[in-house]
Amino acid sequence: MEYLNINKQKIVCPQCGSNDFKAIDKSHIECRHCATQVDTTIIFTDDTNQNMKINDGADVEITNNAKVKIKGGLEIKGGTLIIKDGGSLEIG
Ligand SMILES: [Zn+2]
Repeated sequence: MEYLNINKQKIVCPQCGSNDFKAIDKSHIECRHCATQVDTTIIFTDDTNQNMKINDGADVEITNNAKVKIKGGLEIKGGTLIIKDGGSLEIG
């Protein structure tokens, strides 16, 4: 299964470059080729300045093939976003 990161880019294995993963737990996926585990938890910082607000302490999960689209971007004030089980986030 392919996974997307917050920038809508396919997550690729840092070891072998594959984009075929299986879910391990709530926030980790594992490369089907070399078993490298990737943490899919995204910890937001104030470095980004887009328009949907996620405040400190927010814990957002996108799961089960949910396709979430956000118009106008994302404003991050902290919190976490977890994308798993085929969910994806599209911004813009
Ligand atoms: Zn790999």
